Amino acid sequence: METGRALRESSRAVAGWRAWVVRETPAGLRLGSVLHDLVWPHGRAVVAECRLHEDPFAEAVAAHPVPGIPCRCGFHAARDAVDALSYARGRDEAGTVCRIVGEVTLWGHVLETEAGWRASHAYPARLYVPDPSLAAALSGYGVPLSWSERDALSSRELRTAL
Ligand SMILES: [Zn+2]
Repeated sequence: METGRALRESSRAVAGWRAWVVRETPAGLRLGSVLHDLVWPHGRAVVAECRLHEDPFAEAVAAHPVPGIPCRCGFHAARDAVDALSYARGRDEAGTVCRIVGEVTLWGHVLETEAGWRASHAYPARLYVPDPSLAAALSGYGVPLSWSERDALSSRELRTAL
């Protein structure tokens, strides 16, 4: 996910939007990062690492705290749901059930960017799922899951935005 240039550092927790893949794992369905192999565990923050050195095409950047201002590391979230939606579609690997969007809480070392944030720590805050069976499968995250008619307003807005 790309949210533009880093503008300023912060230690304030923020809430933004992102997309996840829903992936089959030996433990059941889990959220996964769209662009990386990372699986998001239940009840525990994901902690970002810088993988720039693994990218043979990236320009060298000096070692830095994650997320780095001149880098693209950290967990990304968009200020605007529409930006997250562009990552909610794409070619998926075997084992990927679908993609969903949701709200995510970012904290730790936080960088405000042009269209959102990058941060060292992340955990889902609310997930918009297409049906009750997927909601049940993702209930282990212990966060609000929106799928019912009562909660559908936001997801209907999301579908319209697609
Ligand atoms: Zn980095």
